[in-house]
Amino acid sequence: MSKNYRSELVGAFGDPIDENPTGVMEEAAFAAKGLDFRYLTINVKQGSLKAAMEGIRAMNFRGINLTIPHKVEVLQYLDELSEAAEIIGAVNMVVNRNGRLWGENTDGKGYLTSLKNAGISPAGKNITILGAGGAARAISVECALAGAKKITIANIEKEQGEVLVELLRKRTSAEAEFVMWDEPVEIPADTYILSNATSVGLFPNVDQKPDINYDSILSSMVVTDVIFNDPNSLFLQEAVKRGAKTINGLGMLVNQGALNFTLWTGVEAPINVMTDMLKKEFGL
Ligand code: NDP
Repeated sequence: MSKNYRSELVGAFGDPIDENPTGVMEEAAFAAKGLDFRYLTINVKQGSLKAAMEGIRAMNFRGINLTIPHKVEVLQYLDELSEAAEIIGAVNMVVNRNGRLWGENTDGKGYLTSLKNAGISPAGKNITILGAGGAARAISVECALAGAKKITIANIEKEQGEVLVELLRKRTSAEAEFVMWDEPVEIPADTYILSNATSVGLFPNVDQKPDINYDSILSSMVVTDVIFNDPNSLFLQEAVKRGAKTINGLGMLVNQGALNFTLWTGVEAPINVMTDMLKKEFGL
């Protein structure tokens, strides 16, 4: 009887990457579904991505995650892009379809799923987003594609914020407005979803929170954070004090990982296994 000793390979390219827990979560999911897949966490430095992507083809990887600093550079090594990845201008995952590399951005989709799981939809609603980096781009584009009425972007750096607003106006049907973040941001009272998409509050800086007027958060708002370590961020704690509904960054992280799992394997992801494994890794 012939045996197959070869595993299917996926993984992540990034730098830094040593502390990225995604592999533990994905491997737990592969085991739970009885799939002979391995997730390799690989340190690829800036300047080496082209060779690493050639390696994907040469070694017949089924796919790969991209993280800092490769999410934008990788576009030039791909054959195809999803609509959202093309608009966002960044890719966090690639699927190798018989030698053709297809890029997708599942960050914003993972965010939308975490909203949906909490019974929240951005359709027809006003969204206020803090930050204009990679996470903010993914979240704002996906919310706009999901039918958000208006998206307000607050950012410290003017040009980056205005570029994102221009992108939303040109490529989606949502209204978009830029707010200069040079004093504590007032959250517009007609905001339904307030999203922290900055890196403020990420471990080890858990004693920090975005500089906004917290009394402008209303109990009618849904307040979300991209920060997953610690998921109980000071930002969300302030929102809870004002009676708002809150959604932490773990859901976005797990759900983008689940989407990647399904895109690579064609199998429904074991969300509970993935959530439990991440919580365990974060000591929660
Ligand atoms: P970027 O570096 O691309 O963007 C960071 C953003 O934060 C920029 O808009 C930056 O503003 C803003 N910022 C930084 N410091 C401050 C500050 N003191 N006050 C206000 N704004 C500030 O990073 P990413 O967008 O890729 O990631 C952002 C965060 O999201 C990270 O913590 C990351 O871990 C998290 N993340 C979580 C995911 C999840 O699944 N939960 C998925 C992806 C990311 P400026 O442009 O003015 O410098």
